[in-house]
Amino acid sequence: MIAVKTVQQSYSPNSQTVGLLEQFRQMINDSIRIGLAENVSSLKSLSLKAYRQLEQYDAMSYYKLCAISKAAGILKNYRKAERRGKLVKQPYAQRPQLTTCYGFKISNGNLLLPIKPRSKIRIPLNHHTLQVLSGTGMAARSVTLTASTITVAYSKDVPTLEPSGFMAIDRNLDNVTVANSNGSITRHNLAEATEIKAMYREVKSHLNRNDSRIRQRVHAKYGMRECNRVRQLLHRTSKQIITEAKSSKSAIVMERLTGIRKLYRKGNGQGRDYRARMNGWSFAELQRQLEYKARWEGLPVIYVKPYGTSVKCSICGSRMKPEENRTLKCRSCGFTVDRDVNAARNILAAGMRALRFGAVAPATEAMVAVQRRPVDAGELTDWHPPTG
Ligand SMILES: [Zn+2]
Repeated sequence: MIAVKTVQQSYSPNSQTVGLLEQFRQMINDSIRIGLAENVSSLKSLSLKAYRQLEQYDAMSYYKLCAISKAAGILKNYRKAERRGKLVKQPYAQRPQLTTCYGFKISNGNLLLPIKPRSKIRIPLNHHTLQVLSGTGMAARSVTLTASTITVAYSKDVPTLEPSGFMAIDRNLDNVTVANSNGSITRHNLAEATEIKAMYREVKSHLNRNDSRIRQRVHAKYGMRECNRVRQLLHRTSKQIITEAKSSKSAIVMERLTGIRKLYRKGNGQGRDYRARMNGWSFAELQRQLEYKARWEGLPVIYVKPYGTSVKCSICGSRMKPEENRTLKCRSCGFTVDRDVNAARNILAAGMRALRFGAVAPATEAMVAVQRRPVDAGELTDWHPPTG
């Protein structure tokens, strides 16, 4: 299977690069406008409608295609939000940017980006980026530039391992509980992430400047910092989990993400929409990290339905009764267990069953999208912090 990762570095663009990014941004926005006016959002129909209209731009044709592709991705998300009845502003790319999977080259330590036939922009890559990309079997798939960062998505073909065990992941608000089919249970503490979320929410609640634009910007900034810190914590956890999975040659079993229903079930952090979205995001982020890290090691990832994993007895399958201190007691066999451990064991059993009967749920949409071209690299890196 093809596994994809990204590497990012900062840089300072020259005026030519700034011009290129600005032109790309305008092409995205033109394509979005056309897509909205013509009521199309699929990549194919948007290309048919928009490509001719981007004629006025003096840009390489593959940048036009990539801008249309980026716009199609944005429109798709917009339509989805609309369908769910959310109030969403008309989409618009605000920041200069460029994502391309064509035309670029990495040569002699530089990233080369064509701007015209026989004319290229040359951006030096740093030691770390070059070292990452020099690994055996690596192929650069796409690059994404912003006004301050370069992100290169690269891939390698990894042989899928025949697993000799399973590791089930139960994600909760303040911990991740892992049940290994060799019998061990590991708990990764995420209380720090929950604290960070609470702390920034506190900071934000004291901002009451009247200019809504300033407030929005401050909120966006704090949201970004908060997410970066939580993301780092999640990286630490996902790395530990995958290291264990690698050494025990285990397939990863996860519940298929079903939005925030589970958060309410757990009885923590109820209430605020913002909090729920933030937590929903960190669930999805951990799943994303585990999935791509597992793929990179050739470890299979199995998704199971979350139905019943929290209330079923992991010994006899009867309904459990909640007791004190996050424990559950089985009404029929009397088994008493920590509720997260019970859930992880149920996920483990479901994963082993699914594999035996060949009923493995497909990876989630977001994960599949990563493998598609040419939208892929943008989706890997194009993440917007929740505001509000
Ligand atoms: Zn029981």
